Amino acid sequence: MNWHSDTCPISDEPAQEELSGMEDIAEFICPSCGRFRITRTALAMILHRDPEAKEFALTQAKMRVEAGEIPTIDSSLI
Ligand SMILES: [Zn+2]
Repeated sequence: MNWHSDTCPISDEPAQEELSGMEDIAEFICPSCGRFRITRTALAMILHRDPEAKEFALTQAKMRVEAGEIPTIDSSLI
């Protein structure tokens, strides 16, 4: 699997990966994208998308999250 632990999968810049404590979900803290989670299934899919599609997936995840929660990108958003 393509797993770039130190690179933001959305903006492709250096980011910090946090352990979410969940086996199938990775959490990133990115200077541009903020803090978000992405499932490993979604991560494998999103790496092949163009930058606009990646940003759109993150925007969708942020729109549907409750205040104070961390946006999670899953395969339904990609
Ligand atoms: Zn980013």
